[in-house]
Amino acid sequence: RPSTNIMNVPFSKLTFVETLDHLSEMLEQKNSGSRPYHLITANPEIVMKYQTDSELRTIMDEADLITPDGSGIVLASRWQGDPIAERVTGCDLLTGLLEEGNGRGWSFYFLGADENTSRLAVDKITTQYSRVRIAGRHHGFFPADEEKAIVAEISAARPDVLVVALGAPAAEKWIYRNKQQLNAKLALGVGGSLDIIAG
Ligand code: UDP
Repeated sequence: RPSTNIMNVPFSKLTFVETLDHLSEMLEQKNSGSRPYHLITANPEIVMKYQTDSELRTIMDEADLITPDGSGIVLASRWQGDPIAERVTGCDLLTGLLEEGNGRGWSFYFLGADENTSRLAVDKITTQYSRVRIAGRHHGFFPADEEKAIVAEISAARPDVLVVALGAPAAEKWIYRNKQQLNAKLALGVGGSLDIIAG
């Protein structure tokens, strides 16, 4: 897939619709059991952290797709003379995946946000996308010693899509650290998207 480097971060040049098509195709084909497809939506702040955080650099270098989350990334690509068409944000991708998933009966697990936000967001998603299957949900303010149990719950639920709202780059690090056990086809961090959905 076409990409362009911005401060050494390889950004996808796919448009929003092309990205969603690519993910849909992957979700329809991918056999569970292998590690999840790791999608990162990276904003300028993450690009800056990439320069100094070697753990984050490894995670992003191994990611399956990095999309431009912010107009600053699109602008930078133009200045470099290798333009990216548009922003592809976590929030828009989540909405697109829910719409597509509603038609295809995909299952979603939602990790992150506070308990109230998590419950409200999943309630709203259930109402609006009634054929999306909810594999489970868990709030994002758990102590480190509960991580194993949460990973086991996700693994048993085998979601098509694992949505992680723990902030960036905490979500990316969480996905990377647990990816061998997650049993999800696609994993992505979505920042404050659950707060937006919860309203
Ligand atoms: N969050 C969480 N656990 C934490 C820290 C944050 O679940 O320990 C959630 C927070 O409630 C919000 C989401 O992560 O729903 C994104 O947080 P924020 O907007 O601060 O992150 P960023 O904009 O840096 O991605």
